[in-house]
Amino acid sequence: MSLLIFDGHNDALSRLARAGAAAPAGFLAGDGSGHLDLPRAAAAGLAGGCFAVFTCQPPDESYDTGDYFAAADPRAALAEALAQVALLLRLERASGGRLRVARSAADLDGPGLAAVLHLEGAEPIGPGLDALEVLVAAGMRSLGLVWSRPNAFATGVPFAFPGSPDQGPGLTAAGRELVQACGALGVLVDVSHLNARGFWDVAELGAGPLVASHSNAHALCPSPRNLTDDQLRAIGERDGLVGINFHVGFLRADGADETATPLARIAEHAAYATELAGIDAVALGSDFDGAIMPAALGDVAGLPALIRELRAVGFGDGDLVKLTHANWHRVLGAAWH
Ligand code: ZN
Repeated sequence: MSLLIFDGHNDALSRLARAGAAAPAGFLAGDGSGHLDLPRAAAAGLAGGCFAVFTCQPPDESYDTGDYFAAADPRAALAEALAQVALLLRLERASGGRLRVARSAADLDGPGLAAVLHLEGAEPIGPGLDALEVLVAAGMRSLGLVWSRPNAFATGVPFAFPGSPDQGPGLTAAGRELVQACGALGVLVDVSHLNARGFWDVAELGAGPLVASHSNAHALCPSPRNLTDDQLRAIGERDGLVGINFHVGFLRADGADETATPLARIAEHAAYATELAGIDAVALGSDFDGAIMPAALGDVAGLPALIRELRAVGFGDGDLVKLTHANWHRVLGAAWH
């Protein structure tokens, strides 16, 4: 049985935006750069995924000084967001039907790759929410309130390991307004990177399914980026979803950025999340092109090996249909009404 896979998070757009003018053509032709390109995705059975627009990236050198995690400038973020949205629209046009921007549930099925346009961090959206309207018109269908930094809407969690996701305040008044607006416009609200208080505020607002697109179980890896047992249960109770993240630092008990991390760690997080949230609430959220992958996976080409590992820990055919794509299709359909 071959499975079509929907993956809840990749950072291919920000990689391509930084990689120079030839990079988008390389993505279409399959130049082997990064974790993901169109030919490798097709060969691995990747049928769809959320493509993140991640903005206001200071130089990598600022990662260690902490500047990388400081609040970003909204004007710079909007300019960057428009460039990445345009990049995806140009990829769609140049792909000859091999990539389409999914704007409705019907667009998730069909030949080629269905790309869901996701905004990772709402910095480009000002208090009047004008940019939200325009980005939705351009095809954006999923929004994470924050990356791992504060903004006008909410506060993201830092990465310092080990740590609790319960750091910092909940949603601002503007954040509540943004969540309600997303519910009204049919945009999925993503709680990955959001701190615990913000998570519970989003849960309480109940504007759509409670979805963490790329996070893992805190009980197995105590990173602030991972979800506590209570959070996983809440996701299951609210017909939501957690997309299991492949980043080694969010998988391992020691939080180390160590590529010699077995694929079994991904399967263990999926099994643990299934225990707490239920099989209808667990899916994939790789973080391709935005994180450090286990060497045994490598890149998107490693997905069939991961499916074998999921079978090995006891996921059967019906479970795997849900985990690989049906759960994502369900929550996206619910959010998009
Ligand atoms: Zn992320």
